[in-house]
Amino acid sequence: MILVIGGAGYIGSHLVKELVVSKKVIVLDNLSTGHLSAIDNRAVFVEGDLGDRKFLDEIFTQYPIDAVMHFAANSLVGESVIDPCKYYQNNVASTLTLLEVMLKHNVKKFIFSSTAATYGIPNVHIINEDTITNPINPYGQSKLMIEKILADFSKAYNLEYVIFRYFNAAGAFESAEIGEKHYPETHLIPLVLQHLLGKREQIAIFGSDYDTPDGTCIRDYIHVTDLARAHILGLEALLDNKVSTETYNLGNGLGFSVKEVIETCEKVTGIKANIALSDRRDGDPARLVASSEKVFNQLGWKAKYQLEDIIKSAWKWHEDEKF
Ligand code: UDP
Repeated sequence: MILVIGGAGYIGSHLVKELVVSKKVIVLDNLSTGHLSAIDNRAVFVEGDLGDRKFLDEIFTQYPIDAVMHFAANSLVGESVIDPCKYYQNNVASTLTLLEVMLKHNVKKFIFSSTAATYGIPNVHIINEDTITNPINPYGQSKLMIEKILADFSKAYNLEYVIFRYFNAAGAFESAEIGEKHYPETHLIPLVLQHLLGKREQIAIFGSDYDTPDGTCIRDYIHVTDLARAHILGLEALLDNKVSTETYNLGNGLGFSVKEVIETCEKVTGIKANIALSDRRDGDPARLVASSEKVFNQLGWKAKYQLEDIIKSAWKWHEDEKF
């Protein structure tokens, strides 16, 4: 059985929908940011907190868990700067509790959601896994801390893991039964689409004087279903003992500027955006684009969806949000 922590959240719920096809799944979520109705009903659901040692102990005693996939984290860069304690508590301390309980129950296979924010402001155009990590905010720090803990735990306790560093996840499940819904929403693609649906008056571009061709930040957008597929490949490789301590970037390898994203949203929807140029947002590097060569070479994973497909699937979801 596979324990998916944070399976009610955006990326976790998409993973669960794919995973239930081949595996028995138990979802643990405290529903602080996730949605109960996003959890596939083929999975067992237990509501509770990742930092609750007694509760975790019961789960690991009750269910025959082979591996843990951990998606539960706070993930807003700006909030992490204002309230770092929340990030170190939820993302680091609670994860440490989880790892301790896993080891106690001899569960030693772990898939961890990390982030491009671990790289900080990279000094290369295309980021690979050897690019120096130097996070510039507590969110990125909290993820990197767990990465380091995992490396030490693998040496000391034979914990085996796959770390995925996500670039910009976007899009929705093909049927549009689940999709991206955050409170508050801070991500570019959902904000633009909500604006084009008339739910927001305008879309602000945070900074138009970056050192990029059109002056706006460049990001690497990756479809959430592509992310989910990569996790399943990572899990299979871990279970088959083909990998034991790997870190992979997950991105498309293509960068799109904020302006290009807005233009693509306009093209997909046929609606013109009302754009406001505003100040830079704290903590935003000018350009984050991944090389996903390693995950292709080792797990055979390649992104299937490009920006336009990502936005089309997100639009289908936003037009008729189910939760
Ligand atoms: N962005 C923007 N306006 C918005 C939201 C985001 O210009 O209303 C920019 C943001 O500054 C960044 C890019 O869009 O350069 C992607 O931001 P998002 O929050 O979606 O993801 P992040 O890269 O921070 O993980």
